[in-house]
Amino acid sequence: MLKEEELEKLKNDCNDCHRCSLGATRNNIVFSDGNPNAKILLIGEAPGADEDATGIPFIGRAGKLLTKLIEDCGMTRKEDFYICNTVKCRPPENRVPTDEEKELCKNFLLEQIKTVQPKVIVLCGATSAKSFLGNKIKISQIRGNWYKVFDNIDATVIFHPSYLLRNHSEAEGSPRWLTKQDLYKIKDFVS
Ligand code: SF4
Repeated sequence: MLKEEELEKLKNDCNDCHRCSLGATRNNIVFSDGNPNAKILLIGEAPGADEDATGIPFIGRAGKLLTKLIEDCGMTRKEDFYICNTVKCRPPENRVPTDEEKELCKNFLLEQIKTVQPKVIVLCGATSAKSFLGNKIKISQIRGNWYKVFDNIDATVIFHPSYLLRNHSEAEGSPRWLTKQDLYKIKDFVS
């Protein structure tokens, strides 16, 4: 089966899923965006209101900032990234998804990774990083680090764009500046 067909089948399964309580309150599942053949697979936290309304991840203010930062570093999210989240349905009031919700949804994420076969996984924000690196991590201490995650795939950690929305400075050493350095390294890694 072609990669696109496998992902479409998985998306259909996801559409039918009510494995956790988030399925009861969603308007749309938010499965993925970008290129299934991309070398970079980015995992965010969870859908917000804009994402729930459209079914597209990273489409609100934070998503627009992420798109801009990607473009500032000479990449496009349409061609260079496959983008998804730790859970596919919006948690009420934009709360952080629970460990149980992430665990119940993880099979979709693992299947996405297995199908896309990226060269690098980008863990975007603390919730995403904790899913793979454990709950004890502190995002400010590990962003920019590189890891091997399951099946020996390289992974790295960047700040979530919603954090960057609250930190406007682009001065050297600022969170936005650091994120751009991280994105440049990711670009070099897949080139
Ligand atoms: S968040 Fe995941 S596990 Fe929960 S209902 Fe949605 S698709 Fe199913």
